Amino acid sequence: MRAANCSNSKTDRVSEPVSPTTADLVICHARCVATVDAQRRELSNGWVAITGGLISAIGTGTPPASNETIDATDCLVTPGLVNTHHHLYQNLTRAFPPMTDKALFGWLQSLYPLWRAIDTESVYVSAWVGLAELALSGCTTSTDHLYLHPRGAGDLLSAEIGAALDLGVRFHPTRGSMSLSEKDGGLPPDDVVADDDEILADSESAVHRHHDPSFGAMTRVALAPCSPFSVTENLMVRTAELAERLDVRLHTHFAENAEDDEFSISTFGCRPMEYLERTGWCSDRTWVAHCVMPDADEIVRLGAAGVGAAHCPSSNLILSSGIAPVVELRAAGVKVGLGVDGSSSADSASLWLEARQAMLLAKLRDGPGAGTARMALEVATVGGAGCLGREGEIGSLQVGSVADVAIWSLTGPSFSGAVADPIEAWLRCGPNAARDTIVNGRAIVRDGALVSSRLEDMLAEHDILARRIQRLDRV
Ligand SMILES: [Zn+2]
Repeated sequence: MRAANCSNSKTDRVSEPVSPTTADLVICHARCVATVDAQRRELSNGWVAITGGLISAIGTGTPPASNETIDATDCLVTPGLVNTHHHLYQNLTRAFPPMTDKALFGWLQSLYPLWRAIDTESVYVSAWVGLAELALSGCTTSTDHLYLHPRGAGDLLSAEIGAALDLGVRFHPTRGSMSLSEKDGGLPPDDVVADDDEILADSESAVHRHHDPSFGAMTRVALAPCSPFSVTENLMVRTAELAERLDVRLHTHFAENAEDDEFSISTFGCRPMEYLERTGWCSDRTWVAHCVMPDADEIVRLGAAGVGAAHCPSSNLILSSGIAPVVELRAAGVKVGLGVDGSSSADSASLWLEARQAMLLAKLRDGPGAGTARMALEVATVGGAGCLGREGEIGSLQVGSVADVAIWSLTGPSFSGAVADPIEAWLRCGPNAARDTIVNGRAIVRDGALVSSRLEDMLAEHDILARRIQRLDRV
């Protein structure tokens, strides 16, 4: 028996015009379809029809004819979740003891000596496994901030794009960079940085080879100097100019913790916000990671400029960085998305878990009414779409948007008694993972398991590579 309906008063008996042709796939009988569309419609006994990789109709009650059906009885159906910040290769050094008690700068300096060993093989395998982990948590679009390009390591960006294409996850790799090494006052070792001209030439090449600006694209490239403490000011300025010329997005770490603030003041003579402004980065082309430390005036300036922010709650907690002012940022107009951050700081990579953390931290910081499950769902979906410049295309379920969908079972002991509000239940109960994850109309997770048959082989290979990079392969 199906339990309670969606609780929200916006629930309507709504039916979009049904396509005259038979749909490829219909997801039907959902306890609730949370569309996260402009009206935030929540449809009891809802269905979603998919044709040609796009959502062709949405409604309630009797579903239209289709070639394939997924029964979502007792399930919540949401847009696929969007991960706006990650460093996939870092799952090779999870829970590595020398760094587990460090704050950001000490954590980074413990790990750089290991990460300099990455190559195309380890980047492919870590990306494949990391994206599989994300898909199991309902993620359908992920970014990756790949800022480490050791000399002679090969074309790492192409390697991770290959992994995403093989798995079928929508992917926004960023061509990251570092140009300020220890000898110049930065944090990274000398052999993982490159000079500015080399970085810019390779960035432009990566965009020409991989960036697809078309609607529904599976791969889009952004430019992403690692952080103000690992690149020159010249590179920040010229990267912003290049992104403008190529019409791609910009990404970097920003105002992550107190050390970050102190470095900016002592090195650049200003707070990170002013640095962002003077380097030409304060625009709606930019989304930043973390944004923990902005003051009230800076929040207003970020919102006015249309900057996006990737909120990474678990990482901010593990590194004792602080609690990002998500409620204030959203109120100021900042497009706040959700990020798992690298798997050596988070160390898990579940977007469901990050959504729950975002809800809990917002309650702690701004009161119980501020951090709701609906707010966290928005951050995890349309907020992420805003960060990536894809509102109306990903992150919501509406006719014409791409068919990226997550289906969550709300059954079993942990959901018993949660009969009144399926969206609050989704995050307050659990732990949970996606029952089905659909990207571009194609299931990549079914019944809680990855559809690909390669998982066991990839995990075995990942284990060998992780032991090698952590120098534990001979122990
Ligand atoms: Zn990061």
